[in-house]
Amino acid sequence: MMNLMFWTNKKIFLDYASSTPVSKEVLEVMRPYESDIFYNASSIYEEGRMVRAEIEREREEIAKILGATSSNILFTSGGTASNYLALSGVEDGHFIIAEDSHPSILDSLKGKDYSIWRVGEPLPFKENTVLVSAQATNNKLGRLVREERKRRGGEWPLLHVDATQSFQYFNIGLESLSADLITLDSGKIYGPKGIGALVIRRGVKLNLPPQGTLPTPLIMGFSKALKEAFKKREFEFERLQNLADKFALNIRDKIPQALVSQNLPNQVLVSIPEILPEMLVLALEREGVLVSAGPACESNRPEPKETPVRFSLGRDTTEKELNRAIKSLCRVALNIVK
Ligand code: PLP
Repeated sequence: MMNLMFWTNKKIFLDYASSTPVSKEVLEVMRPYESDIFYNASSIYEEGRMVRAEIEREREEIAKILGATSSNILFTSGGTASNYLALSGVEDGHFIIAEDSHPSILDSLKGKDYSIWRVGEPLPFKENTVLVSAQATNNKLGRLVREERKRRGGEWPLLHVDATQSFQYFNIGLESLSADLITLDSGKIYGPKGIGALVIRRGVKLNLPPQGTLPTPLIMGFSKALKEAFKKREFEFERLQNLADKFALNIRDKIPQALVSQNLPNQVLVSIPEILPEMLVLALEREGVLVSAGPACESNRPEPKETPVRFSLGRDTTEKELNRAIKSLCRVALNIVK
């Protein structure tokens, strides 16, 4: 166990896109399933049947939010696993992946034929394209994929949406996105880590591996986190978008050489010419500000020098914290560049 002093030393956490704390409500829901209600959901005695019924009830509620049927909610171990199952589960062919896809998408396509889609350009379809994967937040892409499917008169290509980061802020569902497959990740929405889901439109045929014992506490926590995030969606969208807009404006104002962009409502991406992203992250850490350069994952690829530093805001982020972070960023930019 890490020294408690380490954790009580208050830093400014602006890396919610990589990890969120488990909410109190979620922890409370999970607790009984860690101890008293520990039964295997596959056991045929009453206790097992009761646990199974509770899991199925949660699956049903998750499905309702995503516009799916409960039998098409597949629990996985997180965003990476869902992405992998979506991409490796379809029949072999050509894949199209959006340029901003998470590394787990690219890692799932080793040895396969794929094209990178630069958002805004036409989709590089081939006659054997089987799947398009993106982090779409509206149904425009879905319509294009559906049109291509109609033109070919078959069941391909499918649209996979990785909603790991966007579920909290957008209307994510099979219908609203015209999607066939959706990735969800509990650890980014204030739920426990180690669980996520792949939402599969009815009728989509995927080759899936067999499932082992269902992790009841994680499922209960994930389901609660998902329902909470769904309830808070509009409020958090507006609150964080306002904070992020102000933050971005302030950076542009105080550090004119900084290149600042925004993608999701809670994220501000910053590059400062002449400063490598990792250097900026480490210098900010010394100032007590925690951010990331690119996605924090296990791919172990060095970040390209043009990768922006990602400030991602979350439920506990305050304006005061952001003002302190800007002061730190100004100090760091001045010290490194001079
Ligand atoms: N997809 C996106 C868009 C992500 O941002 C991440 C992680 O940051 C993942 C997938 C992978 O999630 P995990 O590391 O929980 O498997």
